[in-house]
Amino acid sequence: MSDCLFCKIIAGEIPANVVYEDDKILVFKDIYPKAAVHLLMIPKLHIESLEKLDESHNDLIAYMMLKLPVLADEQGLSGGFRTIINTGKGGGQEVFHLHIHLLGGKNLPGF
Ligand code: AMP
Ligand code: ZN
Repeated sequence: MSDCLFCKIIAGEIPANVVYEDDKILVFKDIYPKAAVHLLMIPKLHIESLEKLDESHNDLIAYMMLKLPVLADEQGLSGGFRTIINTGKGGGQEVFHLHIHLLGGKNLPGF
């Protein structure tokens, strides 16, 4: 997707503060952090949003979910963390490439 910000980050066309990368996913620091630790996990595959997932993505999504606590642990979030997926304009999604927010670092306020 040539006009997708996160695809451009994956391609290295836009810089990002990358904390983890493999063949399936990229994890980088949110440019406007809303917590002491605020990472974004994205699949390298361009998927617009949670609404566009189908069963062909089962393995990828399971892989991402299992990686979240590993990353949280590496970030020192032993007390817990929060994950958020904003979906669609009504859900506050601004970048239309599926991403999971990983937040923590201090006790977060109740949601
Ligand atoms: P959402 O509202 O769920 O679509 O979240 C998009 C997130 O991407 C926001 O938290 C932004 O701060 C973040 N963001 C936007 N541009 C960049 C960028 N160039 N590098 C890192 N994070 C970004
Ligand atoms: Zn994309």
